[in-house]
Amino acid sequence: MDRALEEFFHVLDRAQFIDNKCKSFAALDTALPIGFGQTISQPSLVLYMTDALQLDTHCSVLEIGTGSGYQTAFLAQFAAKVYTIERIRELGETAKTRLDALGYRNIEYKIGDGSTGWQDYAPFDRIIVTAAPRVIPEDLIEQLAPNGYMILPVGPPGLQQLLLIHRDSEHSLHQRCLLDVAFVEMKGKYS
Ligand code: SAM
Repeated sequence: MDRALEEFFHVLDRAQFIDNKCKSFAALDTALPIGFGQTISQPSLVLYMTDALQLDTHCSVLEIGTGSGYQTAFLAQFAAKVYTIERIRELGETAKTRLDALGYRNIEYKIGDGSTGWQDYAPFDRIIVTAAPRVIPEDLIEQLAPNGYMILPVGPPGLQQLLLIHRDSEHSLHQRCLLDVAFVEMKGKYS
């Protein structure tokens, strides 16, 4: 585990990303409701997924599912530029307010369906999906740069596999299943 990432994990207070009565449970290692039927991710899983992405300060990252902005903060801290898409306007706008207040200026926000990615800024060195499509989204694969990594849960509601996909310098794809997870459903083309 990257040491700077681990330190950041301990410094960033998840309570800053929760505005409801669950705020007092922010320190628990569990997903919590953030409204609109959505959740803020489990802290240890955010740490694990960020570590698996192997970010560096030259990376451009596409994130599908801004949610509360908690995972976005990790990406913005360790990558050059983050492009994040959230389909629920209230969540996306609140996340932007929080991340602006924390001083992050390397994030582009979009409200809308992220299931087909963000063609204007593709390709991306890293892609992270924090809601589960039924199948691997072909549109996102096409937007992954050579030497890039994509991490995403894939499968039906309730139980999915967390996959790490690597596109090597020859453009070949390699896929590894990391663990079983339970994310909310990704709406849109691949739901
Ligand atoms: N990582 C986030 C956090 O730490 O707060 C939690 C993300 S939550 C588990 C998944 C988010 O994906 C929800 O906010 C949901 O609205 C969003 N989402 C689902 N389908 C989407 C889509 N097609 N495009 C953009 N966002 C989507």
